[in-house]
Amino acid sequence: MQSLKIYNTLSREKEVFAPINAPHVGMYVCGPTLYSHAHLGNCRTFMSFDVVFRYLTHLGYKVRYVRNITDVGHLENDGDEGEDKIAKRARLEQLEPMEIVQKYTVDFHHVLQQFNLLPPSIEPTASGHIIEQIEMTKQIIDNGYAYVVDGTVYFDVEKFAKEYPYTQLSGRKLEDLLENTRDLDGQDEKRGRLDFALWKKAKPEHIMRWPSPWGEGFPGWHIECSAMSTKYLGEEFDLHGGGLDLAPTHHTNEIAQHAACHHKSPAHVWMHTNMLTVNGQKMSKSLNNSFLPEELFAGTHPLLEKGYSPMSVRFFMLQAHYRSTLDFSNVALQAAEKGYQRLMNALKLVASLKTSGTSSVKVQAQVDDVYNALNDDFNTPIALAALFEGVRIINSINDGKDTITEEDKTLLQKLFNEIVVDVLGLKEEEAGNSDKLDGLMNLILEWRKDVRTKKDFAASDKIRDELLKIGIQVKDGKDGVTWTVQ
Ligand code: AMP
Ligand code: ZN
Repeated sequence: MQSLKIYNTLSREKEVFAPINAPHVGMYVCGPTLYSHAHLGNCRTFMSFDVVFRYLTHLGYKVRYVRNITDVGHLENDGDEGEDKIAKRARLEQLEPMEIVQKYTVDFHHVLQQFNLLPPSIEPTASGHIIEQIEMTKQIIDNGYAYVVDGTVYFDVEKFAKEYPYTQLSGRKLEDLLENTRDLDGQDEKRGRLDFALWKKAKPEHIMRWPSPWGEGFPGWHIECSAMSTKYLGEEFDLHGGGLDLAPTHHTNEIAQHAACHHKSPAHVWMHTNMLTVNGQKMSKSLNNSFLPEELFAGTHPLLEKGYSPMSVRFFMLQAHYRSTLDFSNVALQAAEKGYQRLMNALKLVASLKTSGTSSVKVQAQVDDVYNALNDDFNTPIALAALFEGVRIINSINDGKDTITEEDKTLLQKLFNEIVVDVLGLKEEEAGNSDKLDGLMNLILEWRKDVRTKKDFAASDKIRDELLKIGIQVKDGKDGVTWTVQ
């Protein structure tokens, strides 16, 4: 079997994964800005890292997985200007900023739980780490890579870029960046147009503010991740992840701040997930093409032909590699629904397979195919294809067309339980209460039909009357029997 290789955005190569302090692994993923509901695109990114977390754990690593919650400092234009996203929402909803964050954090956790994501080991908030962000900013100023202008602290990108590789992650040229950066408000304060704020002076109307050596203000968006990753994972750690859209600015600046403070790069491997798209366009709140997981489950969004269960959606996401874009489509979701069911049926069936003295199937080859796929930069679509070969084998043994030994059956069962359930996070979905009621009513009405065939009308009426007493009305119409809950 191959060893695990991960594509590193920094080197643009798949590298053999070699943790700094194995079996311990430090992994940081940029979390959501919780000023509104997380959309399905955000969920895709966190689901991809859930599989990374699960697979590393499965391989025996002791992973400390840190995923933050941005609750301050992320301004509307993702840069240094505009209103704070949380503060703006608080003003619109007439709530405390922390009420907004709490409301959407609860919702975020609920959604991720529905998709069966494991919680991270630590989920720190930016507002809970103001002191660490101030300390880091002070150190960057002391090291000569930041300057203060009227209560705001800017990072000096051009000075930094003379000594360190600033654009390594994005692969862009500094000259091109300089040319393509618009002049924004506050530009007159900055020495260079690429400089960004580590700390911002709070205007009088700004509600989220803290005292600092430079006056009252609030931290910039990028510094929070640098401060929190260092606090919980150290100055050098193994993995840093996020959506691909974060690489050119947020992550580039994270690396720069960290190097300016600690003279080293924070993470050895940088992983980036590609975007969930709708008709080829990135799903995004600002483009108005995003839909919420709840709308997807209920099928209430105009783009949806029907509702899809969380596990079918998880299966749909896993069918694409995390570095490829994934375009939303009803057809693909319907296929995913069927694929997920087939996989779950095989999972149930594998435990009850009859064994014999010889195997006519090659189980070890299946196991190797699945692991080789996952070891090749977490290639879930190839792993699923290999698992479906396993599904075919299971069905064929069940139909008596193939045979399997006890030993091979144990191997196959282990593969399905550990990879499908533990690593891919696909679990049997419980029928909802309405499905259960439907099933129960079908059973009762079948039974009633039976007693009527036997001309036991007293029993038939008793069933109808007793159901009515608990609020279920049964009607015998000319097209058959119907029932309603009153
Ligand atoms: P935000 O709350 O906007 O900061 O985003 C949280 C995470 O979701 C970030 O890692 C983004 O890169 C990621 N993200 C945003 N839009 C999409 C999308 N359409 N598909 C996949 N990931 C996304
Ligand atoms: Zn971040």
